[in-house]
Order: sequence, then C-alpha cells, then structure tokens
Amino acid sequence: MIEHACVLCAVYRRDAEPRQYERAQADDGCRRRLDGEIVDVRDLFLRLANPEAPDVDDRTYEAYDSQGEFIGLRRADPTSVFGGMAPTPARSAQPSVSGSRERQLPINPDIVDLLAPARSGGVRDTMVPATRVEHGTVIHRRIVAGPEGPQVAEEVYPATRRRPVLDDDGSAVMVAAGDQTGKQSVATVLDEIVRDWRDSLFPDERLPVPTVPLLTDWLLVRSTAACDRHPAIAEHAREIRHLRTELYRALGESEPLPQVMWGVLCRTEGCDDVSQLVRRPGSEYIECDACSRLYTEEEYREWTQLLAKQVRPKGRRRAGGLPEWATTTAAAAEADGPAR
Ligand SMILES: [Zn+2]
Ligand SMILES: [Zn+2]
Repeated sequence: MIEHACVLCAVYRRDAEPRQYERAQADDGCRRRLDGEIVDVRDLFLRLANPEAPDVDDRTYEAYDSQGEFIGLRRADPTSVFGGMAPTPARSAQPSVSGSRERQLPINPDIVDLLAPARSGGVRDTMVPATRVEHGTVIHRRIVAGPEGPQVAEEVYPATRRRPVLDDDGSAVMVAAGDQTGKQSVATVLDEIVRDWRDSLFPDERLPVPTVPLLTDWLLVRSTAACDRHPAIAEHAREIRHLRTELYRALGESEPLPQVMWGVLCRTEGCDDVSQLVRRPGSEYIECDACSRLYTEEEYREWTQLLAKQVRPKGRRRAGGLPEWATTTAAAAEADGPAR
C-alpha cells in the first residue's frame, strides 16, 4: 500500500496506480470527479423525470406516380402525425433468467423505480428469486500511448454478477424481497448517503427534504469535508457512480467518453511518459489522468506549441526532450486543429 494513496482512484481510475493526495483522503482530480458525478446524477434524474418532447420531423416531400404526375405531399416521418416517437431505452445489462419470462409491462419498471421518492427502512414482503453474487473476470482492452504510438493494453479485472439460486429440482429459490428486486430509487440511495454524512460528520445539522435536487445540493456543499474525513467515501462515490450509470441506461444513452489528446505529454515535472491528457465531456479543462493537473484551453494550446517546437531531427529521446512520435503527433495535431 502506497502512503497517501487516494481512496477514490479505485473508483474512478481502476486501471491506474492510485494518485498521491496532498489533502487526506483524496486527490484533487478525484474530488472534482465526485462533484461532477453528483451534478450528473441530478441533471440526468431531472431529464428522466421531465422527458423532452421528442423531435418531430414534420417535413413533407412531393410524391409523384410512375408517370411523373404529382399525387400530393407525403410526410418524411409518418409518426409525426402522433407527435413522433420517443427515444427507446437500451436493453438492460441485468442477466435475463430463462423460464421466467414475463409479459412486457406497458411502463418501464426500472424508470419507475429510479424516480420513486426516498424510502428509508421500507420493507416489501413480496417474494422474489434469490440471487447470489458470482465472481469472474473481465478482460478490458484499451488504447494507450506507447513508445511507438497508440497500442492496445489488456487488463484483467475481477468482476461480479448476480445469478439466481436454484434448488435441487432446478427451480428458483424464493426469498422476501429486500434490495433484491427492482432498482433502488435515486432519492433513496442519495438519502442514505446524506444520512450517513450527517450522522458521522455533521451531527448538529438537519436533514434536507429528500428530493433529488435538494439531496444533491446538500452533498455538493459538503463533499470536500466528506472527502477529507468520511471513512466510507469510496463506497459512496461508487454508489453515486452506479446511479449515474443506471440513469444513462434508463435514458437509453451510453455514458459519454472522454476525449483523449493523443501524443501530448503532461507538463508536470516527473509525470509519467505515457500520461494521458483527456477532456471529459462537459468540462472546460483538459486534465492529465496521471497527476490530475488541469490545463485551460489556452495553456493547452501554448503547451502543444512548445512541444511542437521541440521536434528533433533524430527520434532518440534525450534529457529534457521527447520521443519523436510524441512531438510529431503534437505538431500534426496542431496543424489539423484539435487532436482527436
Ligand atoms: Zn484519486
Ligand atoms: Zn500529469
């Protein structure tokens, strides 16, 4: 275990060494990630609760018969008469259990569960199939910057998933539903985190009204203190991350990926050669994933110009210099506009 290792890196940067923090217990980059994800949960929740009217394509075109006679106007989108089609949510990643296929409900139960009000200590006595957690591994491939340019790195992670428990006859074992059924509502999960922070860090404060906007506001104001002192901050960060994923899935969207600035090294003294500069969706900064240094748009432009000037005739790396691929890519990126 490294001394002063950030406890949130395990949540946000699972494939990298944890960064060192300056202020216990989390580094600045992970603190920003936590706040960003709390904001995402609030925004995604509000979008799910107040779906936008679908885009209606009400354009028409002129239709002609095979003789070239005008026969009238046709609609480009026939469903526009009914106000268009709403977006269709993506398939759930939950494992489907064969033999227990239910008729489709006219509403999406996952969305109803996610939007439900906070309930603390509520008990449902419905019986549901018991599940157990199964451990396996997942191979994750990603592209990293290597000495010869982008290359594929493979990592194996432990992963868990739920499987139904079967009895000797092969039928599902039923248990009373606790958290086994449906999804916990966003407000319920946030309310539990709020209560936990209040009890351990702010015992004199009152709890906020448990709506998602008020709970997230409450958490944002106190996240610095929680990162400093709450022993379970990593677990809470993981729960918030999970909510965010569930909300994206319920909206039928995938999580937007950060933009990687290929071949641009970090400016921080001693920062790793293969450091990756990335821009997270919605962020105005470019960030080094290795040391969490932030670059404004202008600092980034100045830095890439400086890198471009350092192109050397030989590809050899020298003290203070850069490998050829790094500088040429930076120069090319500068010429072609923003790096991809
Ligand atoms: Zn961290
Ligand atoms: Zn860096």
